[in-house]
Amino acid sequence: RIAYVNGRYVSHALASVHIEDRGYQFADGVYEVCEVRDGHLVDEVGHLARLRRSLKELSIREPMPEASLKLVLRETIRRNRVRDGIVYVQVTRGVSRRDHYFPPASVKPALVVTARSMDRAKTEAGAVAGVKVITLPENRWARVDIKTVGLLPNVLAKQQAKDAGAKEAWFVDPAGFVTEGGSTNAWIVTKDGIIRTRPAESGILRGITRTTALRMARDLQMRFEEEPFTVEEAKAAREAFFTAATAIVTPIVAIDGQTIGDGKPGPVALELRRRFHEFAEISKD
Ligand code: PLP
Repeated sequence: RIAYVNGRYVSHALASVHIEDRGYQFADGVYEVCEVRDGHLVDEVGHLARLRRSLKELSIREPMPEASLKLVLRETIRRNRVRDGIVYVQVTRGVSRRDHYFPPASVKPALVVTARSMDRAKTEAGAVAGVKVITLPENRWARVDIKTVGLLPNVLAKQQAKDAGAKEAWFVDPAGFVTEGGSTNAWIVTKDGIIRTRPAESGILRGITRTTALRMARDLQMRFEEEPFTVEEAKAAREAFFTAATAIVTPIVAIDGQTIGDGKPGPVALELRRRFHEFAEISKD
């Protein structure tokens, strides 16, 4: 495997960053994960726009013009011969002697890009069988709208989910409303058949897959609303599912051990997943 590290393509096994990289010391950096389908990027425009926004919110310079970054993404995918998989992009504030203040303007942001293949048949089988989630109190900072590499609460939550035999952990805010998962956006289909997901204005990362799924729901003339929902509403829902670039639309069959609907992946989630596959196949750039 090959990784792109600060201007060079190097062997993945030997690729390294400096010990004084601010990503390493302060989690002072941002990232994106984009699905690769049939060798091309899915929702690339959205992911690159969000990367730009994350950098801006943290006052980190763009490491290179977007057109160049697009070439690096393609070249990394090509060199790793990825047809189906993911590409990972990480930008940190760069390498400088440890000090909380931003480094001098001469310090360049550090850019790393990796790509790897995924076994689509295997992930598809796992997803369409439905997954379990647990709920946990929200304990992240207030700027979860920025896709930073500071993911310790997410790491701990997802490990707790795994230890409980679940795939994902849903964070719950102090008012009892679900925010999102450790690495996914949260959705339900209410008892009245309305698709509901939390508005992106507070408490969540504005998922690119979330935006695409909302557009699909609209195109399919499904009823949907961007409104928060409580854990109780989720447990009483007809369906639940989550979205992310790596998960597409994944049906949920249990929350905190409680069966959702009839315990099988719901028709809305499966229809959106099917649509997303169609979209991914044709979204050649
Ligand atoms: N929420 C969090 C906390 C995430 O980390 C992610 C993706 O990694 C998402 C939501 C889903 O975002 P996207 O659909 O852009 O992958």
